[in-house]
Amino acid sequence: MAKYPTLVKPGSKISLSDHDPRACEGLKKKAPEVKQRRDAALERIYQLQEMLWAEGEQSLLIVLQAMDAGGKDGTIRHVMRGLNPQGVMVSSFKAPNPTELAHDFLWRIHRRTPGRGTIGVFNRSHYEDVLVVRVKKLVAPEIWEKRYNQINEFEELLCESGTRMLKLYLHISKEEQKERLQARLDNPDKHWKFSTGDLAERKRWDDYMEAFEAMLERCSTECSPWHVIPSDRKWYRNLVVAELVRDTLEDMAPKWPDPESGLADVVIE
Ligand code: ATP
Ligand code: MG
Repeated sequence: MAKYPTLVKPGSKISLSDHDPRACEGLKKKAPEVKQRRDAALERIYQLQEMLWAEGEQSLLIVLQAMDAGGKDGTIRHVMRGLNPQGVMVSSFKAPNPTELAHDFLWRIHRRTPGRGTIGVFNRSHYEDVLVVRVKKLVAPEIWEKRYNQINEFEELLCESGTRMLKLYLHISKEEQKERLQARLDNPDKHWKFSTGDLAERKRWDDYMEAFEAMLERCSTECSPWHVIPSDRKWYRNLVVAELVRDTLEDMAPKWPDPESGLADVVIE
């Protein structure tokens, strides 16, 4: 079966109800192909990261957005585990603090973007400012409405400055979220992850889907596309994300820098 078409084509309309969160190319969790493909992708990501670092010209920014319990943490754990920590920076964006609120919404974001040669991972991002902020009416519609363009222009600046973006929306079903929240409630070791606030957000599920659709439609651009990742099955989500990260790095095609001349004649005594 063909690979799941994750890309949101720039300018296209999207209805999340057309995307099956349980899609998995007909694969089975324990199929040897799944492990083989995932391991191959992780191995190649490791090599490409080293080249990216050595080259020191470009950077990659991976953005993760999802509903609560959507699997952002798990994706970071599984897909980034093979990377050299020296070249990766993970940033988690919570509700803004007073200093952050005293600035424009991109201020805290811009300072966490990856420098040349490195990979940045955003666990939540500037997109919260057109998601939770829109759904919970934290600012007036005239304010959040302008943000889609402001985000596109900001991301264009990043792209033109050598940063490739890979934006991943982890798509889970409402039933799957229920199961995951229930599992957190049932396991004392997971209580720290449970927040009754998540239940209030769950009640606004349809409003969130509408906000996610607007984000995907209005901010999937040529230089900074969005992908919808079927995420009810964690093993498939990990496979798809690993292959997308690998393919993106391949496309960036980092090159080893030119060595000093005359290395062939060097003798170490
Ligand atoms: P987990 O999925 O493990 O619970 P989390 O990412 O949900 O992790 P939390 O500390 O539970 O982490 O939640 C962070 C909260 O911060 C979310 O509810 C999110 O909507 C909120 N948040 C992030 N950015 C903004 C923003 N710009 N404005 C308002 N709220 C925000
Ligand atoms: Mg949470």
